[in-house]
Amino acid sequence: MSRPTVAVIGAGFGGLALAIRLQSAGVRTVLLEKRDKPGGRAYVYEDEGFRFDAGPTVITAPLAIEELFALSGRQMADYVEMLPVSPFYRLSWENGFGLDYDGNFDAVAEQIRQKSPADVDGYRRFLGFSEAVFEAGYQQLGHVPFLDWSSMLRVLPQLVRLKSYRSVYSVVSDFIRDPELRQAFSFQSLLIGGNPFCVSSIYALIHALERTWGVYFPRGGTGALVQALARLYQDLGGELRLDSPVEEIVTRHGRVAEVRCADGRSIPVDAVASNADVVHTYERLLRQDGSARKAADRLRRRRYSNSLFVVYFGLRRQHPQLAHHTVLFGPRYRELLADIFERGVLAEDFSLYLHNPARTDQGLAPPGQAGFYALAPVPHLGKAGIDWESFAPEFGDRILDYVERRCMPGLREDLVTRPRVFTPLDFERELNSHQGSAFSLEPLLTQSAFFRVHNRDDRIGGLYFVGAGTHPGAGVPGVIGSATATAGLVLSDLGVTA
Ligand SMILES: Cc1cc2nc3c(=O)[nH]c(=O)nc-3n(C[C@H](O)[C@H](O)[C@H](O)COP(=O)(O)OP(=O)(O)OC[C@H]3O[C@@H](n4cnc5c(N)ncnc54)[C@H](O)[C@@H]3O)c2cc1C
Repeated sequence: MSRPTVAVIGAGFGGLALAIRLQSAGVRTVLLEKRDKPGGRAYVYEDEGFRFDAGPTVITAPLAIEELFALSGRQMADYVEMLPVSPFYRLSWENGFGLDYDGNFDAVAEQIRQKSPADVDGYRRFLGFSEAVFEAGYQQLGHVPFLDWSSMLRVLPQLVRLKSYRSVYSVVSDFIRDPELRQAFSFQSLLIGGNPFCVSSIYALIHALERTWGVYFPRGGTGALVQALARLYQDLGGELRLDSPVEEIVTRHGRVAEVRCADGRSIPVDAVASNADVVHTYERLLRQDGSARKAADRLRRRRYSNSLFVVYFGLRRQHPQLAHHTVLFGPRYRELLADIFERGVLAEDFSLYLHNPARTDQGLAPPGQAGFYALAPVPHLGKAGIDWESFAPEFGDRILDYVERRCMPGLREDLVTRPRVFTPLDFERELNSHQGSAFSLEPLLTQSAFFRVHNRDDRIGGLYFVGAGTHPGAGVPGVIGSATATAGLVLSDLGVTA
């Protein structure tokens, strides 16, 4: 009997993890990536001796990554070195308050005590809540598919008990009173595209997840982790085709039959798993299929998470006073998020994330120099009609001015690379992302688990999804979890035992 062939479309973290799982189980896998490098949102730019990780920089849940190597008896340490990062984040406000947050309870509690003594006990109780949702939401349900109502009904009592119908911010506010500390323990859902005032309190699990295993940065940057996964996949005999945008998934008699690439090549398949954007997959790749067109119509009406504007820049000097990960909170929190997520307004003020990898690994820039990125959440293209093509340089300048004022004096004079920007339009054009969203479907309760795009399509045989648009959702741990859920379905449907 010939071995089944599965095409995985897109080499983001989700696509790579799924391809590794399938190939480890002996399934012939072809991984087709549109761009010239794997990684998807975790792309790497190289400018004048600087290496910039384009996307994810806060790497958590290392065990889930290690497991991908262990499936074939290999060890992650032979492919990539993971360096612990401390503090996890430095949080900084315009009024001068700052909080270094990591897994050391006493150190965090002491900083809380100095700001708001009454909140120390609340923080302890919040940790208990976060650990409970982490156990249920990540450990138990983060890797299992939700394909039918009964799977949802089974977890309903747990969801109610964990108050998942409430927002992260409102639950944090039950425990903590100080306004800045409320921000400190609720902003994490923004890392997966969720407005803390709207996303389910389930996402308070991120706090426990970070504390349980720590925060890491691969030596050589996130790109080195992507390369490690790509190498593992190829060592397993997997085929990776770069510069291979898929043009169409052809269905016959209600099943996927072949995948057609832009270069005219066609691959007969037993199954297809799309790591590409879910709307792009149904609307564009399955445009000939009636049921897919209906799915695309339904999906277009859903809510999509925010987009991002990112500026990458290299400086002739390092800034050792800055932590690896800094969040610069601006003057507004709730209202700024309402501008981004609800009103579609590009605000004058910012809250930014600043990446300073030289604090952990100096090998990403020429000696003595350092590369950075500053990231601003912005409305997606469907919310705000901004002409990013013409406005990007001005907006990039405003961000650099703000960063210079807040924490990097002399930034302009120290520039050695021309700042490179990635805008919502680039999310749409480069990554085929619907409305230029950075994280796919917004992680609302009504768009999570059974209500998210299913890991296996309900109607088209042999069609699967992996990545941010499917369960459990965005973020590196999320999409790696989605690969576990999807691989289980593919292997069982193909009758392959892992
Ligand atoms: C700037 C930024 C910072 C982030 N920071 C963090 C962080 O610190 N920690 C964290 O955990 N998460 C972070 N995230 C979120 C995280 O990066 C993503 O949720 C995750 O990487 C998405 O992975 P994915 O598997 O869904 O695939 P993606 O990375 O979205 O990759 C999908 C791939 O599909 C390809 N593709 C699309 N269409 C086609 C086609 N037709 N044919 C072939 N290929 C196609 C694309 O080119 C792309 O390579 C960040 C995201 C961004 C944008």
